[in-house]
Amino acid sequence: MGGLDLVRRVAVAVLAAAVCGGLSTLAPASGKVGFAAAPRPAAKPEPKPEHAPPPKPPAPKPPPDCSRVKCVALTFDDGPAESTAELLDVLAARNVRATFFLVGENVVKHPELVRREHEAGHELGDHSYTHADLGNASEKKVLDQLTRTQDAIRRASGVTPVLLRPPYGSVSKRLTRITREMGLAQVLWTVDPLDWEHRDTRYVEKRVLKAVKPGYVVLMHDIHPTSVKAVPKIIDRLAAEGYAFVTVSELYGGKLVPGKEYGQTGRPMVHRDESGAAQGLP
Ligand SMILES: [Zn+2]
Repeated sequence: MGGLDLVRRVAVAVLAAAVCGGLSTLAPASGKVGFAAAPRPAAKPEPKPEHAPPPKPPAPKPPPDCSRVKCVALTFDDGPAESTAELLDVLAARNVRATFFLVGENVVKHPELVRREHEAGHELGDHSYTHADLGNASEKKVLDQLTRTQDAIRRASGVTPVLLRPPYGSVSKRLTRITREMGLAQVLWTVDPLDWEHRDTRYVEKRVLKAVKPGYVVLMHDIHPTSVKAVPKIIDRLAAEGYAFVTVSELYGGKLVPGKEYGQTGRPMVHRDESGAAQGLP
């Protein structure tokens, strides 16, 4: 290879790198491809005082008043799992907060995702330790399932949940009493796209968008990548319709009562008395 040839190759490589670098600096809002703006002169770094306090995070925006604004609470059950990280990116890019109902044994597997959920301003709720049918469980089992999950979430994030979503929507008088004593409100849902059954992104998008009304609680599962992929369109469409996205506690104005049930499953709910006998079934 001649020396001149080498010089040409290097020049081409440098030019290519400059073009790629230039394109990546385009403002995302412009939506057009053009030339990159000239780089601004770098600001002089402020001299750092020694022992400077860490920079304060920006104060969180006060939640909207859901008695005046169209609010919706997106909730995600059964995680965390690998696909939760992608969902957190989607929510962060849109500045949307949601509520995660966590399964204790998954919290122990992915404590870093639980911490990330909390740090991003999402609400954390209890969904039992092993996804147990709490409405049909003994007192001892219910207490064990709930306390282990509360402890795992507290260890991972520093917060103790005030919400329980009973797996399968299975509730009982016994569960009501225990959750009242433990300071947990029972949160069911008003929109269920059956995303665990239909692993189909378009189907989940359509089902949710068709059903949502102001004040609704949407149930999805962040353990299914097909559901996570439905979230951008659901958020973008609802935002265009003027919806504000809030956590479950925000939806109820921070006035949730421990033990009380919120939301409806949209199908007959199984209530069991202290003896475990089902009541209120058709
Ligand atoms: Zn579940």
